[in-house]
Amino acid sequence: MPLFLPDFDLKNFNTLAISARARFYVSVTNEQELREALQFAAQENLPLLVLGGGSNIVLNDDFPGLALHMRTQGKTVVAQDDERVWLQVAAGENWHSLVEYSLNYHYWGLENLSLIPGSVGAAPIQNIGAYGVELKDVFEELVAVDIRSGLPVTFTKDACAFGYRDSVFKNRLKDQYVITSVTFKLHKNPQPNLTYPVLAEAFSDRQINEINPQDISQMVCSIRQQKLPDPAQIPNVGSFFKNPVIARAQAERLQQMYPELAIYPVDEDRVKLAAGWLIDRAGWRGYLEGGAGVHARQALVLTNPGGASGKTILALAKKIQQSVAEKYGVDLEPEPRIYP
Ligand code: FAD
Ligand code: NAP
Repeated sequence: MPLFLPDFDLKNFNTLAISARARFYVSVTNEQELREALQFAAQENLPLLVLGGGSNIVLNDDFPGLALHMRTQGKTVVAQDDERVWLQVAAGENWHSLVEYSLNYHYWGLENLSLIPGSVGAAPIQNIGAYGVELKDVFEELVAVDIRSGLPVTFTKDACAFGYRDSVFKNRLKDQYVITSVTFKLHKNPQPNLTYPVLAEAFSDRQINEINPQDISQMVCSIRQQKLPDPAQIPNVGSFFKNPVIARAQAERLQQMYPELAIYPVDEDRVKLAAGWLIDRAGWRGYLEGGAGVHARQALVLTNPGGASGKTILALAKKIQQSVAEKYGVDLEPEPRIYP
């Protein structure tokens, strides 16, 4: 039976370092412990907060339920052929350690997703993405346990309904499954993705056949380290808002007022704007209030240098949303999940 720790401060288990107490906390390291933790929550009628690295959550208050920390470990090659390898990875594995593991074997696929904090099990939840690659590009299937029945279910890529920082687990199946493993399809042959402008530029003087996945990973890590605060130094959850997708006609009107506004096509009628740019030009970059702040090098990242509460951080987020809505008529939606 795993240990259920009562009245547990989650400060060290969320990268915004918000002090908030869970009624119970449990660390789950295998499937038997997961079953027992789910039974405990059902018997005690406790809501669940499935926790990975805590790098995409905001604790607005104490959590009146069970914080179930997925810490299962393991990586298994389940199939391979001359060109590809299928790797099944336990939910509790650290994401960047998985990227490093794949690089050690010279597998292609995860290099653009280097240095994203958090766990493997959380990666499908918002279909993590960076530098032109999303989880769905390397995804084969996942196994998740149905919280009500305790039974494992396999989800194909189609069943996950991946979208831009989105999946079925944020929508129709929200709070219904605990992801226990993810199977990735990686490549043995070169598959560099240098579509993202900053990477295209960085490798512009190199022949494609001279580039290996380690080179791309190192470049991504170096760019990220220059721009993003390390949560261990300055608490944060990465991008606080999703990039808004708006009607092309509205974006073109905005571009007349702000000629430097960047517009990225989504489909014929819709475009994506960079939320960080909107927040920056609304004057928020470097702003500090009540211990919370807006990062000086990337205005999309809200930080918690002064030990602010979740409520203070969310109040700042709300002010930013209002200001962006007033200035541009664009609504920003928070990316991290807010609890309880
Ligand atoms: P948590 O914060 O622990 O959980 C997030 C959500 O997933 C919660 O709702 C939780 O209940 C649920 N969840 C977690 N594990 C499971 C599971 N096993 N089963 C079911 N539900 C689960 N994101 C990007 O997409 N791209 C980036 O480039 C990126 N860069 C970042 C940079 C920084 C500095 C930071 C701090 C964050 C960044 N993020 C980025 C956000 C974050 O790292 C990812 O969303 C990551 O996948 C969250 O993983 P986690 O384990 O910390 O999830
Ligand atoms: P950036 O390169 O300064 O670009 C700003 C924004 O413009 C990004 O959000 C990106 O959208 C968009 N963009 C730029 N070039 C694009 C293109 N050619 N096509 C489509 N969209 C384009 O961004 P950054 O803040 O340094 O982040 C770099 C990458 O890491 C981005 O992919 C970003 O999503 C990712 N990241 C994510 C988080 C998070 O918490 N979610 C945190 C840090 C970094 P996209 O976001 O859609 O790529």
